[in-house]
Amino acid sequence: MNSPHMNNRPGRGAASAPILPNSSIISSRDTKAMSAFTYTSAPHRIVFGSGTLNSLTKELRGAGCKRSLVLSTPFQKNDAEELAAVLGSACAGVFANAAMHTPVEVTEQAIQVFSNSGADSIVAYGGGSTVGLGKALAFRTGCTQIVIPTTYAGSEVTPILGQTENGKKTTTRDPKILPDIVIYDPKLSATLPVKMSIASGLNAMAHAVEALYAKDRNPISSLMANEGLRSLKSALKSIYETPDNEKARSEALYGAWLCGSVLGAVGMSLHHKLCHTLGGSFDLPHAETHAILLPHTAAYNQIEAKDELKYATKLFGGNLGSGLHSFAQSIEAPLALADLGMPKRAIDTAAKLATENPYWNPRQVDLAGIHDLLTRAWEGIPPEQSKVQK
Ligand code: NAD
Repeated sequence: MNSPHMNNRPGRGAASAPILPNSSIISSRDTKAMSAFTYTSAPHRIVFGSGTLNSLTKELRGAGCKRSLVLSTPFQKNDAEELAAVLGSACAGVFANAAMHTPVEVTEQAIQVFSNSGADSIVAYGGGSTVGLGKALAFRTGCTQIVIPTTYAGSEVTPILGQTENGKKTTTRDPKILPDIVIYDPKLSATLPVKMSIASGLNAMAHAVEALYAKDRNPISSLMANEGLRSLKSALKSIYETPDNEKARSEALYGAWLCGSVLGAVGMSLHHKLCHTLGGSFDLPHAETHAILLPHTAAYNQIEAKDELKYATKLFGGNLGSGLHSFAQSIEAPLALADLGMPKRAIDTAAKLATENPYWNPRQVDLAGIHDLLTRAWEGIPPEQSKVQK
């Protein structure tokens, strides 16, 4: 199945926009002539900063919302109830059953609660699972969505909704899915355990790496992707060393916004296709799967997308795949699909599924290459060394 995440949408600009020299790492000599591109900006409001949670009531009023249903996972129910108490009469209730991959049966329960509560809007408090439920509700009811992200997954700034029904995941892309207001308060992600923070941050970085070589990339998406990678690399190292470092949490959330924005703006390729396949077919955890595959998919594409990945390659020491792998090792990120419970025999099936439907990727996707990539990722060994000029 082709996903709207992916880079195979026909007719979406085939411009080969260069990466921008957004750092002294890249000299002006590296910049090729600017190619044609299209750029569409997303109509949403971003409120960023420590303590911005306090602006929720003002933001709701500004958007014309009278009563909101607060959403969360069962794990974050207490936080959602605290938020509901702060909203007072502007809160129409709490629905705390959000689950990974937006199961349609949960959405249907939430729609019942939403309709009975007289709410005109939703406030999604949490990570990608809660954001997904908010998107599913807004897509079906047309209500206003305010999102308060507490992970780095980036779903809050994309017009993409992945849903599961009868064990099958489908993905929809529609402007109506994009949340209206996002309140990024870095203090809220400080409760995310270090291991989850690292996996979530690497999940965000994967959006940026794929955006850099996306077929429909543009100078703004590349600028945002490079800056997203820079900020998350620095932030994750600091979070690993001092988890409650406020500056690092802030830098990570800033990076998550940038990386999520490019996920929403341009098409994704091999990496997202593989994660989609592994998540959907073998029920592997979302952020950890992204984190493990990133060095391997980057290595797979790094020669064909050498120019587009130039800044990222320098950022990670001259070889993007092995640099990302060493970085992941240095912050004790998950490295092996085997550790997530994927059986070794599943590599054959996964490689076949991932190569069955043709989709755009800078390097041709062949069964043997993907099988090798998945085997290394399963074992947790570094990606195949490819020679990339510094
Ligand atoms: P998640 O939302 O499933 O959160 C994982 C767990 O961490 C949950 O129990 C959650 O309550 C808890 N949690 C979240 N923030 C916390 C915090 N600050 N402190 C303590 N616990 C916290 O995880 P995720 O990785 O953010 O989201 C994964 C889901 O998002 C997947 O379903 C994925 O498909 C979807 N996603 C969608 C898009 C998109 O554009 N559509 C993009 C990225 C991810």
